[in-house]
Amino acid sequence: MPLPAQCPICSAEHHVQSVVSRHVYGGKKGQAIFHCEQCDIRYLHPGLSHEEEAKLYAEEFEKFMEKRSSHDAGWETPEAHIEANAREAARRSAFLLSRLPARGKVLEIGCSSGFMLHELKAKGYDCVGVEPSGVFSDYVKHRGIACFNSLDDLLFDPAHADGFDVVLHYYVMEHISEVTEFLDRQIHMLKPSGIIVFEVPNATDALSSLYDIAAYEKFIWVVSHRWYFSTRSMEHLLRGFGMEFEIHMDQRYDLSNHLTWAIDGRPGGHGRFTNELGQDLEDHYKRALVAAGKGDTLTVVVRNAPCP
Ligand SMILES: [Zn+2]
Repeated sequence: MPLPAQCPICSAEHHVQSVVSRHVYGGKKGQAIFHCEQCDIRYLHPGLSHEEEAKLYAEEFEKFMEKRSSHDAGWETPEAHIEANAREAARRSAFLLSRLPARGKVLEIGCSSGFMLHELKAKGYDCVGVEPSGVFSDYVKHRGIACFNSLDDLLFDPAHADGFDVVLHYYVMEHISEVTEFLDRQIHMLKPSGIIVFEVPNATDALSSLYDIAAYEKFIWVVSHRWYFSTRSMEHLLRGFGMEFEIHMDQRYDLSNHLTWAIDGRPGGHGRFTNELGQDLEDHYKRALVAAGKGDTLTVVVRNAPCP
């Protein structure tokens, strides 16, 4: 098994890199997940080559996601996808809307069916999407939103040379090999008072760090995730840019989902036991996990302003 010479995020030496899992879903022989003691990043090593990464996303991503998702994930049609993500859109909007300027230009990288952008467009924002996987981009354009296959294509379009007030991406950054370059490009695309808002999964959530569920361990380490961020590793990465930032924790999945993992060893099950447990317990459970630092989601805001 090839060992990393140093941490790809903080450059700490090999003796503080340890193996987390030799089982990588969809991976090839010799690939493993490592942890860096210094910055707390967990990462796939060796990572995918540019060719392997392009192939995964261009041809295989939707099929791959459908296989891994529960049946209610709505990958069949754009309309089904929007419907299946209505609860998630509401959760994101609750955080986002109080932080957005009253008007402005919004870019979402990895907008899928556009379930965030359609709502923002209806509120008067000038919206643009980037969606590499192809299936949804025609639909997003059909709904009147400019949509590009890649950031490169967008950057070559002079219509968007003035930049954006807001750049969004949800569950994209954990897939991106060149993560520093990815964020750096976004910072350069911001207008003077612009913000970047993004989410990634939290590597130290309850399913990973509290319950020790074997089936989840097999599920979570996956070839399409280059990075598994925690608050500490995200802070380390963001400090390198010298910009103001905030990191918030949230809990997306409910107690019913966690019980489904424990009982059946599979994802899904949202709301399965809520009638019996009551919504108050579900809500309290989410707050308790966040308070314990074991929420499943990191929501990050980066401002186009240097650190004080
Ligand atoms: Zn490190």
